[in-house]
Amino acid sequence: MEIRQVFAGAAEENPPAAPSYRYCPLCRAALLQKEEGGRLRRVCPACGFIQYRNPAAGVSVLIVRDGRVLIGRRGPGGVAAGKWCLPGGFIEYDEDFLTAAKREVLEETGLAVRLRGIVNVASNFLSPVLHTLVIALWAEIRHGSPRPGDDLTELQWVGRTGPFPDMAFAADRYLIGSFRPDHGTGLPVDGRFA
Ligand SMILES: [Zn+2]
Repeated sequence: MEIRQVFAGAAEENPPAAPSYRYCPLCRAALLQKEEGGRLRRVCPACGFIQYRNPAAGVSVLIVRDGRVLIGRRGPGGVAAGKWCLPGGFIEYDEDFLTAAKREVLEETGLAVRLRGIVNVASNFLSPVLHTLVIALWAEIRHGSPRPGDDLTELQWVGRTGPFPDMAFAADRYLIGSFRPDHGTGLPVDGRFA
């Protein structure tokens, strides 16, 4: 299978355009549009604050058992509610991505996992206001039995070739389909966290 790392959401033709601050979040002065580093950005004339826009960093985890991968159904109120996805979520500011992966898996599936490798990194242009950069990790269960929690309301095991329920993210479907444990574990993870 051809390697793929960039995925679009519904608005494939539109580059992400998140809403801008109008007033400085630090000193409340009105922001100006200014060229900064070759791009138009919102800049505060009073205190120098610059509004940078960056993708939100997240993790997705392929928990593999007997050649099958665990997916969860997304609860009401969030992005793609009712659709299915790999366990995962956003990395907190004071957290490394390995800790985030283990935390999200525990919260969403009740499982303690051993992280085995980095299998891919994906840019997801999901909507004009949501652009994520997701590190996909392969994990094995250390202990626990799967039960849905946090953002997920149901869990199920799926085979690499499906059949799949209605998936929330193109990247997840690709990751599950392209995962080849017999071709190696991907990039090793830092053993202090594994
Ligand atoms: Zn300011």
